[in-house]
Amino acid sequence: MYRTVTCGELRIENAGQHVVLAGWVQKSRKLGAMTFIDLRDRYGITQLVVSAGASEELQAQANSLGREYVIQVEGTVLERQSKNSKIPTGDIEIELQSINILNKSVTPPFTIEEVSDGGEDLRAKYRYLDLRRGPLQRALKLRHRMAHEIRNYLDSKGFLEIETPYLIKSTPEGARDFVVPSRMNPGEFYALPQSPQTFKQLLMVAGYDRYFQIVRCFRDEDLRADRQPEFTQIDCEMSFVEQEDVLETFEGMMRQLFKNVLDIDIPNPLRRMSWYDAMDNYGSDKPDVRFGMEIHEITSLAQGHGFSLFDSVPYVGAIAVEGCAEYTRKQLDELTEWVKRPQVGAKGLIYIKVGAEGVKSSVDKYFSPEQVKAIADAAGAKTGDLVLILCGAKRKTQTQLGVLRIEMGNRLGLRDPKVFAPLWIVDFPLLEWDDETNRFYAMHHPFTAPKPEHMDWFYSDKKEDLERVCANAYDFVLNGTELGGGSIRIHNADLQKRMFEVLGISKEDAEYKFGFIINAFKFGAPPHGGLAFGFDRVCALFGGQETIRDYIAFPKNNMGRDVMIDSPSLIDQSQMDELYLQSTAKHE
Ligand code: ASP
Repeated sequence: MYRTVTCGELRIENAGQHVVLAGWVQKSRKLGAMTFIDLRDRYGITQLVVSAGASEELQAQANSLGREYVIQVEGTVLERQSKNSKIPTGDIEIELQSINILNKSVTPPFTIEEVSDGGEDLRAKYRYLDLRRGPLQRALKLRHRMAHEIRNYLDSKGFLEIETPYLIKSTPEGARDFVVPSRMNPGEFYALPQSPQTFKQLLMVAGYDRYFQIVRCFRDEDLRADRQPEFTQIDCEMSFVEQEDVLETFEGMMRQLFKNVLDIDIPNPLRRMSWYDAMDNYGSDKPDVRFGMEIHEITSLAQGHGFSLFDSVPYVGAIAVEGCAEYTRKQLDELTEWVKRPQVGAKGLIYIKVGAEGVKSSVDKYFSPEQVKAIADAAGAKTGDLVLILCGAKRKTQTQLGVLRIEMGNRLGLRDPKVFAPLWIVDFPLLEWDDETNRFYAMHHPFTAPKPEHMDWFYSDKKEDLERVCANAYDFVLNGTELGGGSIRIHNADLQKRMFEVLGISKEDAEYKFGFIINAFKFGAPPHGGLAFGFDRVCALFGGQETIRDYIAFPKNNMGRDVMIDSPSLIDQSQMDELYLQSTAKHE
């Protein structure tokens, strides 16, 4: 037997016991004639001590240990003189009788401790060493725990976990596909699923009624911050349901996760907000509602006073930032530069300071103090607040105000990762017009059904009508992050054909790409709907972190590379030939 106990389990009650442990040497230090060793495994850290009275051989052995050596030790549990309240085993240490070196280690490239001295790139290259550290171990344990809770909950609700294939045909969901050449079918390609969307719908046609899968998905996108080309979804679908049934089922799942994993009670039922309200009041379809600072439209108050910037645009909006009336010239200049950055894209920033002695604004030339005060009131400002105003096209300006709101929330410390404010966003528009390509795109995906009451608009030829069509689509939003989303689906072949037509997909193209699902809908497809959660992100937020990378054992960097195994990489010419491939890429 390699060990009788792990490095995380001994307590003061175990004093006097004879034990065998195995693990990695995190650190060893010599204090006079004594040697102290921190032994680490997945379960924790236990202090080992070789006392002054130990045999010379044992002392020499203890002093020869390098960092990350794998050892097996035998000894007696003793109460510690100087206790360490920071670790659960901090009351005890093991007085060693023997050390058996199971394997040596070369000196690791960075310290493997709670806080490492290694930079991100180095740690990524030696991910298997980084994974030995406490923070990553805790992240992966949390991930396991979450998956377990999810499976328990969904099983208790009658869901079946069913695997769907990874080598499929492209299911466009807004991103590019990763493709895999087929050796046996020369010149033809599989696509890796962006999600199992069509398969889960086919499972509904097949009568499986409640499906879920914790499943890898692949999207070949330019990697914006904190995206991974492969990521994991909790993918779900249900038959004979309306939107309300889906929302109830999955807020139940989230409620159980919050309760069982974090011991937090979230409201029952959860807050719901329409997409239109989210955009109007928060300038985002994933509003962070941990704090107020809502957007207020002030167009009518702002126009007609001879200030051409306001008069020449369709929309003027404002937020009131609490307690910032004392902002200096310098701070306001900096904020103005900030909103002009391309990431925000505003032309400029107007402000009103609401002081105890009255208001002061950057447009005092055009407005009387009463008029300025009326605007500040409309923005919801109180004495001591700073009102920030942007103007332009409606949705664009609201989005900019939304970004500014989040920034001010960050600056004022209003976004505590330990506070959770989940909600559903509902009533999304079905379609989104794109000026560049001059066509509609599905806001969620092409399988989302229009609301039954908007069917007339859906069959209209007018752009304005189509823009008004809403979907029974919903997103689960937590602290300014979209954690999941889904919809009630189209289950009728003719409606699905109309959807492809609205999206400008030709009959032939629809047939080529989606013939299988249109055909399946002819064989008694039940009404159905579902959703998917981004599992990596759910885990990260539950862990109080913004980045998903720590919650994935082997993530890619932001160039989509795995620097540990050095992939992607070139393949042999013979492999290329076998796959009927030729590359036009140039390599030095
Ligand atoms: N397939 C969708 C997605 O990946 C989720 C859904 O509609 O169920 O976003």
